[in-house]
Amino acid sequence: MSAMSRPAAGAVLPPMEISGRAAKAAAELDRAGCDALIVTKLENIRYLTGFSGSAAILVVTPERLLLTTDGRYRDQSAEQVAQAGVEAEIVVGSTATQLDAVKALVSSLPRVGLEAANVTWAQMKRFSDAFGRELIATSGVLERLRVVKDPGEQARIEAACAIADAALAQVKHRLTEGPTETEFAAELEYEMRHGGAQGPAFETIVASGPNSAMPHAQPTDRVVRAGDLVVVDFGAIVDGYRSDMTRTFSMGEPDAELAHLVEAVAVAQAVGVSTVAAGTSGAAVDGAARASLVGSGYGEVFLHSTGHGVGLDIHEAPAVAAGAADILSVGTVVTVEPGAYLAGRAGVRIEDTLLVTDSGSRPLTMSTKDYIL
Ligand code: ZN
Ligand code: ZN
Repeated sequence: MSAMSRPAAGAVLPPMEISGRAAKAAAELDRAGCDALIVTKLENIRYLTGFSGSAAILVVTPERLLLTTDGRYRDQSAEQVAQAGVEAEIVVGSTATQLDAVKALVSSLPRVGLEAANVTWAQMKRFSDAFGRELIATSGVLERLRVVKDPGEQARIEAACAIADAALAQVKHRLTEGPTETEFAAELEYEMRHGGAQGPAFETIVASGPNSAMPHAQPTDRVVRAGDLVVVDFGAIVDGYRSDMTRTFSMGEPDAELAHLVEAVAVAQAVGVSTVAAGTSGAAVDGAARASLVGSGYGEVFLHSTGHGVGLDIHEAPAVAAGAADILSVGTVVTVEPGAYLAGRAGVRIEDTLLVTDSGSRPLTMSTKDYIL
C-alpha cells in the first residue's frame, strides 16, 4: 500500500467520542472497590474530558465529573471540555482551592480511589491528609478503557505514523553524508514538526555502529560511517496521540554476519506481525517473534519485549510480552518490534505500529524495510 492512499498531513481529523467515556469509567468504579476515583494522570484526564493542560485533578463519580485546574488554563479548560461535549464542573484556582473542591465532592463518599501507579507517595499523602482518611489504591481502571481506540483515535495515530513515514523518507539519504547521531535525530524531528507533528512521541533514538547494540541508546556525537548499522526509532504526536516505528539501515553493503542479523530480525518481525489478531494474547505474539529469533540463533540477544500498546502514552496497555495475559481486540493499536543486539558490534530492531482489525492487523507505519543505503 502506498503512502498516497492516506490522508495528507493537516487533513481534518474525524471527531473522537469523548463525551461517553466518563460514564464508562464510572461504571467501573464499583468493581474497582470505590465510589469515586481521583485522576491525576494527565493522559487519563485528557481521555475523559478532552482537556490537554499540564496540571489538573479530575474526580469521577457515578453522578458527577469535577475538573480542577489553575488560572493558566481558565479559558482552555472550559473550551476543550465544551468542545468535547463533556458535562463537567470546572473549578479554577490555587492548589488549595482545587483540593477543597475535590474534598467537598468526595466527603460524603465512603470509598475514594486514587490511581496507584500514577501518583507519588507525596501526592497520595497530600490527598489522604486533606481528607483525613485512607484512600483506595486502584490499578488500570482507565488504562483498560483506553485499550480499544475509537475511529477518531485511530485516525490520529495513523496521522502521526504518516508524518513519521514522510519525515524518514525526506531525510534518510542524509545518513550517507556522515551526520552525527544527534544531528540526524534533530533533522528527523524537524521534518516531523514541519509535517504537522506537535513534537516527537519520545526521545528519538539514532544509534550507529556499536551503539546500535544498545536497545535504548541515546544519540551521541558519533559520526555515522560506512559499514555501520544504524537503528532509528522515533515517532510523532498528533493531537496527543503517538506513533512508534524503528528501521535499521546498513551504510553500504553489510558483511555476511550483519546481513544475517538483519534478515533474521526482519523474519521475526514479519512472523510477529502475522500473529497479531483479535483474540490473540500479547504473550502469543511475543512468543512467535521470539521463537523465530531463537530458531535463527539470536534468542539470547533479543533483550526486550516484542511490543506494547500505543496511544496517548508511548507505552500503554496491552503488553506484548512474555507472560502478558492481555488479549488483543479490534481497535487496539500495538507495536511489533523484535531486535537482536551483538554487544560491542551491532544491533538491529525493526518496528511497526499496527491496528488490530477484524481480519488480523493493518500496519499504520509503512516505511520501506529496504535497508541498504
Ligand atoms: Zn520504537
Ligand atoms: Zn516501541
